[in-house]
Amino acid sequence: MKKEKLAAVRGMNDLLPAEASLWEVFEARAVDVLRAYGYQQIRTPIVEHTALFARGIGEVTDIVEKEMYSFVDQLNGEQLTLRPEATASVVRACIEHNLLYDEPRRLWYIGPMFRHERPQRGRYRQFHQVGAEALGFAGPDVDAEQILLLRRLWQALGIGPVRLEINSLGDGQERARHRAALIEYFESHGERLDADARRRLHTNPLRILDSKNPAMQPLVSEAPRITDYLGVASRAHFERLQELLAAGGVEFSINPRLVRGLDYYNLTVYEWITDRLGAQGTICGGGRYDPLIEMLGGKAAPACGFAIGVERVIELLRGSGQAAASPACDVYVLHQGGGTYLAALQAAENLRDEGLDVILHAGEASLKSQMKRADASGAEYAVIVGQAEAADGTAMVKALRTTDEAAPFARQRALSLAELGGTLAAALAAGDAFDDERTCGTN
Ligand code: ATP
Ligand code: MG
Repeated sequence: MKKEKLAAVRGMNDLLPAEASLWEVFEARAVDVLRAYGYQQIRTPIVEHTALFARGIGEVTDIVEKEMYSFVDQLNGEQLTLRPEATASVVRACIEHNLLYDEPRRLWYIGPMFRHERPQRGRYRQFHQVGAEALGFAGPDVDAEQILLLRRLWQALGIGPVRLEINSLGDGQERARHRAALIEYFESHGERLDADARRRLHTNPLRILDSKNPAMQPLVSEAPRITDYLGVASRAHFERLQELLAAGGVEFSINPRLVRGLDYYNLTVYEWITDRLGAQGTICGGGRYDPLIEMLGGKAAPACGFAIGVERVIELLRGSGQAAASPACDVYVLHQGGGTYLAALQAAENLRDEGLDVILHAGEASLKSQMKRADASGAEYAVIVGQAEAADGTAMVKALRTTDEAAPFARQRALSLAELGGTLAAALAAGDAFDDERTCGTN
């Protein structure tokens, strides 16, 4: 009987080693920048009670209406959902563990999110977000600070121009008045609404502004603007945000149709958009969600945050060609089997004691074929433990990546096992310093 071929679930991707090094570059930069602004990591479970998202995201959003992976736990009947985003989870955790009891918090997370969407470039069913949440801050200073943080991250990654669009959604009352005006406006043009818009008209008319249907664009662009419904306080918040961005040298444009999909947003909303990813060009969305903490059962506290779509940023990073794949190791250790293996094992362990990354050749093979593996590994040095070396407590060292005859170990040379680790660690450090000097010099 032919066995059925097993494959990953549609829209859920494997991350293979060649690609993983780009993710490592991204994650390292993101962690650096988040730390530079005082953010601390939080990790929450991937599975939560469905009620958290229904309440926290809103029943009439795309996510809750049609994108959630929800299921009943067969063992105890609980209604559970794979998290489609992490803000609700972070807020839940803060309430549950009383994290906001005596101080505001700056938190960040990274991890997979799950949405049942139609897979296409830049849109997957399992995708990843890096996000930050500042809880207990009323802004707009912290709103602006998060935007500066993001600009610093784009710069650190060298991903080229990313445009910032901002808007203000006002407070609940202002949104309610704007909502009424929207419904009235769209109702008076009922014959021009598409099916989606008709469905949303009385549940979430704000989402009509977000319509991607070209036929709807003329109607949408004439629709009442939230900015015309802002009261004094909301207007002041929005203006101060703009002042702070200008002072920080951040370019932005105001997009009065930027509404974001989730129910709980208020005041500041923004998106970072690139033109180099086609239709899925938004790499980060953020804004304020002052009502959410209380909605989820906590003591009322303002908050703002953002989420970066990691796959989309990785695609830009790949295009920029600047993150070279990192080699698997510093040193590749070769041996001739038998008694030489134990000496080679000892040598590899000594090198690891010095902090080096080492691949010890596994199994038996000719030195020639081991040398091919050493080359392919990207290692700087090969360490060869043959019969003679094993017998007298030495190893041969050969530099693999230099054409410079004067470089250390350009010609194969023996070292005692005692001096091996220290010598190669020093040689690698010197090589790194040399490389750094060269890249700094040319930048
Ligand atoms: P869209 O309107 O494109 O569906 P969204 O409003 O649902 O976006 P958010 O919930 O704000 O997106 O998520 C923040 C970011 O996460 C997005 O800007 C995007 O970069 C990324 N993202 C969202 N959904 C997906 C997905 N299915 N696959 C890959 N990345 C995604
Ligand atoms: Mg979406």
